[in-house]
Amino acid sequence: MSDVRNVIIIGSGPAGYTAALYTARASLNPLVFEGSVTAGGALMNTTEVENYPGFREGIMGPDLMDQMRAQSERFGAELIPDDVTAVDLSGEVKTVTDSVGTVHRARTVIVATGSQHRKLGLPGEDELSGRGVSYCATCDGFFFRDQDIAVVGGGDTAMEEATFLSRFAKSVTVVHRRDTLRASKAMQERAFADEKISFAWDSEVAEIHDTDRKLSRLTLRNTKTGDTSELPVTGLFVAIGHDPRTELFQGVLELDEEGYLTVDSPSTRTKIPGVFAAGDVVDHTYRQAITAAGTGCAAALDAERYLASMT
Ligand code: FAD
Repeated sequence: MSDVRNVIIIGSGPAGYTAALYTARASLNPLVFEGSVTAGGALMNTTEVENYPGFREGIMGPDLMDQMRAQSERFGAELIPDDVTAVDLSGEVKTVTDSVGTVHRARTVIVATGSQHRKLGLPGEDELSGRGVSYCATCDGFFFRDQDIAVVGGGDTAMEEATFLSRFAKSVTVVHRRDTLRASKAMQERAFADEKISFAWDSEVAEIHDTDRKLSRLTLRNTKTGDTSELPVTGLFVAIGHDPRTELFQGVLELDEEGYLTVDSPSTRTKIPGVFAAGDVVDHTYRQAITAAGTGCAAALDAERYLASMT
């Protein structure tokens, strides 16, 4: 069992690395579990990021995360490319267990494990992510100016994305498995009133096609008749929900009905003293790199103040 550290951070996206940077600069010697598969978080899976402030020409997602990582290391953050497999957060000293069973101890824990967008699960989907297939209209809408695009989903997020995208796109087709939407009445009405938005009801995406490794066409299947049809589009926005990575914390920390961690907003304090949460694992609403970094900073400051109050 290790000595008791000041801070352990679980997660290595913008929230985790920003918390690491701030706690390292505050001489708290943070230990960061980056995860074994996707160290660097969600932006490791994307290409151009044009909306992270400070990069006038934009920056590739993995390059941005390399910079954040190196910046936190420069001030002494200790990074481990491993998963946390168990936690005990109850006492004044918390324990975090890694994948080989080593137990690490700390007075504070910052949870920044992010969330996973749901995929359609179709062949070609991963290969075309960033090449026409997207999971975030705010992030990528701008790239689809004057193009024909599709949005999959029938909830509030799908309607919000369709309405947002219609500002840029030539046309937006909402593909929905049923013949009614789950979205709120107000969101539905806004989408129905938008001349650029049309609906493919009772439909699901059956196949994704590309030309020169860029999305070019979808095959839609009618969920009632099984008939198929072709939809030529160069953009496909998948808006069927997100799953916050909170399995480790079930029965430990308070989760809301959708499985996100709850915090005493606007702070990052969870219900357990000394445990803080930041980034997309908390955030239903904004889900941006800059907001994750912002709450990562807040978590670091909250942890710092908590530690100061203990002495
Ligand atoms: P994440 O980035 O998801 O990082 C969480 C980290 O926690 C991961 O590294 C994961 O491995 C680690 N982790 C999880 N569980 C454990 C565990 N048990 N032990 C150890 N580590 C663990 N936002 C923008 O602002 N602009 C964009 O252009 C943009 N483009 C995007 C493109 C794509 C394809 C995607 C998927 C997202 C995009 N986003 C964009 C959204 C942005 O990436 C997220 O909002 C942001 O990454 C959330 O940061 P986070 O730190 O909360 O979590």
